[in-house]
Amino acid sequence: MTKIKDLPRVDRAREIKKQCAVCGNDILIKVFPNGKYTGGNYFGVTEKTESYRETSETMDLGDGLKAHIAEPIGKITKSEYWECSKCYNEAYKEAKQKGEIKY
Ligand SMILES: [Zn+2]
Repeated sequence: MTKIKDLPRVDRAREIKKQCAVCGNDILIKVFPNGKYTGGNYFGVTEKTESYRETSETMDLGDGLKAHIAEPIGKITKSEYWECSKCYNEAYKEAKQKGEIKY
């Protein structure tokens, strides 16, 4: 029987535990040495701040509407955004029904 340690490096996956940003369930991600992964859907890094402060700057929203631009105050924390397959598939189905996704 082949043991895991005898497999070539490229076949070995590292397991990391993440949390789904939508439902909060734990997701077990398998990351392979070539950078590919299975078990979840990664959307990149998001930034969260403690609070926002309104500035005097405005932006044009069209139709004569303007909105004040806010700037982050306090500590900014970065985190990875992951979704489990169930939440990802539900959102995909919903977007497809609304016609937001054409394929
Ligand atoms: Zn989820």
